[in-house]
Amino acid sequence: MNSPYIAINTKKIQENTRYIVDLAKKNGVEIYGVGKASCADIKVAQAMLKGGVKGLADSRISNIKKLKENIEEDIPLMLLRIPMLSEVKKVVKFADISLNSEIKVIEQLNKAAKNLNKNHKIILMVDVGDRREGIMPDKVLDTVSQIINFDKIELIGLGTNLACFGGVIPTYKNLKILIDLKTEIYNKFKFNLNIISGGNSSSLPLLKDNGFPEGVNQLRVGETILLGNNVLNRERFFEAHQDTFFLSAEIVELKIKPAQPKGERAENAFGEKKVITKTGLRKRAILAVGRQDIDIAGLTPLLAGLEIEDGSSDHLIVDVTNSEKELKIGDSIKFNMNYGALLKAFTSKYVDKIYIT
Ligand SMILES: *Cc1c(COP(=O)(O)O)cnc(C)c1O
Repeated sequence: MNSPYIAINTKKIQENTRYIVDLAKKNGVEIYGVGKASCADIKVAQAMLKGGVKGLADSRISNIKKLKENIEEDIPLMLLRIPMLSEVKKVVKFADISLNSEIKVIEQLNKAAKNLNKNHKIILMVDVGDRREGIMPDKVLDTVSQIINFDKIELIGLGTNLACFGGVIPTYKNLKILIDLKTEIYNKFKFNLNIISGGNSSSLPLLKDNGFPEGVNQLRVGETILLGNNVLNRERFFEAHQDTFFLSAEIVELKIKPAQPKGERAENAFGEKKVITKTGLRKRAILAVGRQDIDIAGLTPLLAGLEIEDGSSDHLIVDVTNSEKELKIGDSIKFNMNYGALLKAFTSKYVDKIYIT
């Protein structure tokens, strides 16, 4: 393997999935596994499948295509991001289900489905308060009355997304809006929506502690499966593993230097004016990894006593003065990654991957 690399513990990801799938099943809820932070890595997807997810979901159609071409099991694939008008054909071709909120897009999905002689399933997204995607609740009946005219579109349910833009916490009350809308749709149009998709990882604490309103029967879960976090506070989600991934990077320089720069100072390479409070001599390591590969703020060294100073495109500077272990050139340092750092590390083509099974 090449350095830097991400180590991926597929066994722990599978165990996290099983834990969440079982918790959900007890409450009549099915789980779609979301692997967008791992760029639809196939081994991660397979771990989710072994853990019992009903289907796989991703926000990008290129990732959905990758899953369709590489996963042998015949499982449903769901596109999470509202489709672009320019990609409707691919959406119908590769995704079984898409989340939607724009009638113009749904109309074009219908056309594309006609051309491909296929049906396409959609979940209509409703904004119950977080203010990212979704139509407002008072527009749902009107939108449904338009959707039912599209003969190749199958409206299978309503969904919502919370704790993404506004940080709004999923509650019994805001999820109940979906259930009430389902009832209104039944009363007006005389058909039953089978799916009520109650959000992402942020809905799991409510599910575990209080339960959902009767009828919420699906969640789309990424972060809690991948990183074991309760995403409302980033603490451990009950028994889920948090040590599922680490990043490893190699030391290329190790020197004792004055902490304070010397000379007249302006902005650094990223347009920032850095305040440096440390003084005296420090032992500093330069690692061969940088902002092109990682989100520096999202890294936590696994070795005690290390402090990340900063980094540039290809370098990460770590103060190792108080390192618990004696370090030398060529040693690798391991880091925990938060969701943003994981996303970036997977996206960088310069970061290798190894699997721990
Ligand atoms: C990313 C995403 C999810 C999964 O979110 P997590 O917080 O990782 O569980 C679910 N639904 C939609 C619409 C998403 O974009």
